[in-house]
Amino acid sequence: MSNGRKLLSLRELPVSRLDRVSERRAGRLAELDVETVLDLVLTYPRRYIDRTRQADVSDLVVGDEAAVLASVQSARSRRARNGRAVVDVVVRDGTGRLAVVFFNQPWRVKQLEEGTEAIFFGKVGDYRGTRQMVNPVVDVVAGVTPGRKTLRILPVYPASAKAGLTSWEIGECVEEALRRAGDFVDPLPAEWRASLGLWGRTEAFGAIHLPESLAVVEPASRRLVFDELLRLQLALVMRRRAFEINARALRHDVSPREVTGAVADTLVARFLARLPYELTKAQRRALAVIVADMAGPFPMHRLLQGDVGSGKTVVALAALLAAVQSGHQGALMVPTEVLAEQHVTAVRALLGDLEGPGGMGGGEVRVELLTSRVKGKARAAVLAGLAAGDVGLVVGTHALLTEEVAFASLGAVVIDEQHRFGVEQRATLRAKGADGDPDLLVMTATPIPRTAAMVIFGDLDLTTLDELPPGRIAVETVWLPGEVHADQAQAWDRVRQEVAAGRRAFVVCPLVSDSPRVEARSASEEFERLSAGELSGLRVGLMHGQMAASAREEVMERFRAGELEVLVATTVIEVGVDVPEATVMVVESADRFGIAQLHQLRGRVGRGADPSWCYLLGGEEANERLAAVAGSTDGFALAEADLRLRGEGTLLGVRQKGQSDLRLASLTNADHVALLGEARRVAETIVGEDPQLAAHPDLADDVRLVLDEAEGEYLFDEYLFKS
Ligand code: ADP
Ligand code: MG
Repeated sequence: MSNGRKLLSLRELPVSRLDRVSERRAGRLAELDVETVLDLVLTYPRRYIDRTRQADVSDLVVGDEAAVLASVQSARSRRARNGRAVVDVVVRDGTGRLAVVFFNQPWRVKQLEEGTEAIFFGKVGDYRGTRQMVNPVVDVVAGVTPGRKTLRILPVYPASAKAGLTSWEIGECVEEALRRAGDFVDPLPAEWRASLGLWGRTEAFGAIHLPESLAVVEPASRRLVFDELLRLQLALVMRRRAFEINARALRHDVSPREVTGAVADTLVARFLARLPYELTKAQRRALAVIVADMAGPFPMHRLLQGDVGSGKTVVALAALLAAVQSGHQGALMVPTEVLAEQHVTAVRALLGDLEGPGGMGGGEVRVELLTSRVKGKARAAVLAGLAAGDVGLVVGTHALLTEEVAFASLGAVVIDEQHRFGVEQRATLRAKGADGDPDLLVMTATPIPRTAAMVIFGDLDLTTLDELPPGRIAVETVWLPGEVHADQAQAWDRVRQEVAAGRRAFVVCPLVSDSPRVEARSASEEFERLSAGELSGLRVGLMHGQMAASAREEVMERFRAGELEVLVATTVIEVGVDVPEATVMVVESADRFGIAQLHQLRGRVGRGADPSWCYLLGGEEANERLAAVAGSTDGFALAEADLRLRGEGTLLGVRQKGQSDLRLASLTNADHVALLGEARRVAETIVGEDPQLAAHPDLADDVRLVLDEAEGEYLFDEYLFKS
């Protein structure tokens, strides 16, 4: 073990232990989620001011970008003719005066009182012969402590007016934290550091917070980015190894030959043979890999991703049937009750009277539904059937993981959509597999970029369906921005035309709140309004999450059968709803939805052979998300766009931990993506030789930073690899 500070030990120190942090300041830092000394040193500057390159006002050249340190001489606000707020500021240094104009930032008047010293950074323009900056970046220098003023490069931290903390105050605290921490342990083995050309950790922290020149920021940040990525990858690879090591695999009685049609008399082969369509090449390939996993010596642990409509469900079903034909049971876990209800209907139809193997109840494969809405006798019957092994396939929500659910022999689990699937659930699942560890297949609703998959689902093997079934016609997407309702008439006209031609339409109500009750009420109102207005004379149904399951099932059934022509709904129809006759979707206030959600919603139409349309109503002309969705129907391309526009935060939010773990690293930065690949390679090599990092205790402590306590105990448990 090397000498020096570990990051983990800094997590034990509250910020109040620093001289610079008074009780009051500690409270303000807490508002920024900075509670420990570790949080402080991981609070990175958001940019730097190079004081050696600061210009004098008199030297400013029109057309150049420049930073000037100047004091405010006057600041006045007015309204432009178009109503916009304008703030006119005059600033001066010893050499001259400069006009600074802010549009739509009325609060600048308060910020820039007479005499305020600040650095103004922006492009120098010319307005009627006077040099000026429009909407420059402003860093108020007031309050820069004498110590900081001598710095040549001033780090600018994400200050917060709300928390009452300036960038310089944060800088002071960070500086003290670093000084008192001294040297850091460098957990990365020297040979890796050398081969990757990475700086030492101590130098990296020093240079990112207090750079001597701007040139050192990049290499410093590279090292710290690598650390962030490596911690996560080590955790994921360890999780994966831990999963494999004590696994009691059920070696299912199935082979890829059943997928190719070379073997015809098994349940899986017969199921595939009677599908009303041919599997796509991608489906075949994916299923062959899955089936090989299931027959193999380790429990499957795989992510299946594919665009909306790529046909993941049938692949999942075949996998579950592979378990059934081997004398076990299969479970399909989905995120909503509507979806579970729909899947049960679809699965029963697809299976028809297919005979299960003996011992699984003999005759047909019994398929049951289990959600919190299945109650009383019906519930008791399903539970008994699962415990006795009479039920071959069960479809349900999270309810499947509860204690009361016991299986005779659970062989495979498919989890639809991106649940966070942690160690606890995994343990729960294992416990339910009486004869061994069930195989696990996770499916995503919409694709995510490969890099993000590596960070979020890096403990799973990845299979991608990169092909849509033949004959699909891309959904024509029409975006009608703004509030102008005259424009929107074409959407409702289309609905009427399609309904007249015997087809069906969805109307998706705006997302109004997080409360399902409020959401339901607003959907009901929208339903009334449309029924009396745009959709009058049509047979319109309503569906939202607050309706009883039976009522929803009934509405869905009537819509499927064509008795209802238009379905006005909340996002309960977002996932998986499959009605091939539906050819139009109108999404109201589309700007309230994210890219992935819109793409998923749009996937509810265009599932049959007829042309179809999706109308996105609302949003400003400049809305990049809506432009992206209107411009592409390729889920993989949209996933990249989403990552670019929103950053990884929202993606990683799926696993809340990950979000705070990537502070510097960005999956939209090509250099960081390259480092991600390196981090994965390093993690696999190290864990391959040393699964619990026994010989790398410093690295182990780094990994603990990204694990919650329960998982930390589990992965580092000394008995884990000995039982
Ligand atoms: P998703 O990947 O979005 O979950 P689904 O599994 O719901 O897609 O499949 C979308 C639609 O495509 C369903 O109606 C399904 O019956 C149909 N489908 C699936 N595979 C094929 C195929 N190989 N050929 C034709 N249609 C298919
Ligand atoms: Mg699906």
